[in-house]
Amino acid sequence: MALVNECFLKLSNNYLFSDIAKKVSAYKVAHPEAQIIRLGIGDVTKPLPKAAIEAMHKAVDEMACGETFRGYGPEHGYDFLINAIIKNDYEPRGVQLEECEVFISDGSKSDVGNIGDILGLNNSIGVTDPIYPVYIDSNVMSGRAGDAKDGKWSNITYMPSVMENGFIPQIPSHKMDIVYLCYPNNPTGTVISKGELEKWVQYALKNDSIIMYDAAYEAYIQNPDIPHSIYEIEGAKQVAIEFRSFSKTAGFTGVRCGYTVVPKELTAKRSNGERVALNALWNRRQCTKFNGTSYITQRGAEAIFSAEGKAQVRETINYYMTNAKIMREGLTSMGYQVFGGENAPYLWVKTPEGLSSWGFFEKLLNEANVVGTPGVGFGPSGEGYIRLTAFGERKNCEEAMVRLRKL
Ligand code: PLP
Repeated sequence: MALVNECFLKLSNNYLFSDIAKKVSAYKVAHPEAQIIRLGIGDVTKPLPKAAIEAMHKAVDEMACGETFRGYGPEHGYDFLINAIIKNDYEPRGVQLEECEVFISDGSKSDVGNIGDILGLNNSIGVTDPIYPVYIDSNVMSGRAGDAKDGKWSNITYMPSVMENGFIPQIPSHKMDIVYLCYPNNPTGTVISKGELEKWVQYALKNDSIIMYDAAYEAYIQNPDIPHSIYEIEGAKQVAIEFRSFSKTAGFTGVRCGYTVVPKELTAKRSNGERVALNALWNRRQCTKFNGTSYITQRGAEAIFSAEGKAQVRETINYYMTNAKIMREGLTSMGYQVFGGENAPYLWVKTPEGLSSWGFFEKLLNEANVVGTPGVGFGPSGEGYIRLTAFGERKNCEEAMVRLRKL
């Protein structure tokens, strides 16, 4: 008899975005004339940079010709993309990486979810709260999270990241084996300073922990003092894995490309105390379970590092960040407490006194026809906030502010 992985059955059937979609369609049925503005989506809306399109067209043509056709590529990615990443994303920030430390993938959701394959099931987990739900759910699936009680998992330490602590979670005094950090943060849109990140690296070095550093939104950082990579911090290569994505950087959400850095220095222990390099294990895992990102996609990703590609990426990010500024200034002038939106495409808005996340969601939907994402959907400490995103059209962001002002 085949048995299921019962850990999957522990996951709740509470799908935040489908719950939102149901509420919005019910509203649409009752009010067919309503012009709904969706500020809840975490997906980009602008087309791909021209440089990426041209490179992908060229790559398709190569596939059409016997001499230039490519079949299976290297599982960890083509050298041309790995070298472009090292040269453009890391060297200018003083970080030296070897080619074998960068693994190209089909996006960081897969890598963040799969990385647990190479780590023991008895590791304890820490997350900042609220957080991108994949970190927790993937650990529930593998059996590492323990049991759910009062909205939390017993083997996971939740570190509240809230207005009261300036969105800088307190580092616990106890040991956590694996810690997930995401900066710029989804959903709060807040960032971490070099000084605060140094404290985390020190914590990990002292406790022999591993930091899973998700930098999917690093391209949105505007303040030159904010670190883009955890490897800008001394000692981080011994303790951190970094995840990056072309999704929000260059509109690749539908194309699919990301990468993960696993430094050679990074090790974890066997139960007998012997140290094992995680780079070799991740390579083994990828070679067995992943057959590489398509050549066409990797050529498209490489093109964003050309001079034109960089300019086009910058232009699109500036567009989204101007949306963020318009919303941030608009909401602040109406008296809302707004966080994020300065170095990230997300705004984290405190709900008005007496309204829960879902209560404020309903109010915005019913009275302004504006859709946000209830903060509580990202974890218990998200209660009392709503997330708005800057990925929409300019005119919709402006119109949303006009409607909210009338509330
Ligand atoms: N990490 C964070 C924090 C995200 O918000 C997202 C997507 O929304 C991802 C990773 C996944 O990105 P990708 O499209 O590369 O899978």
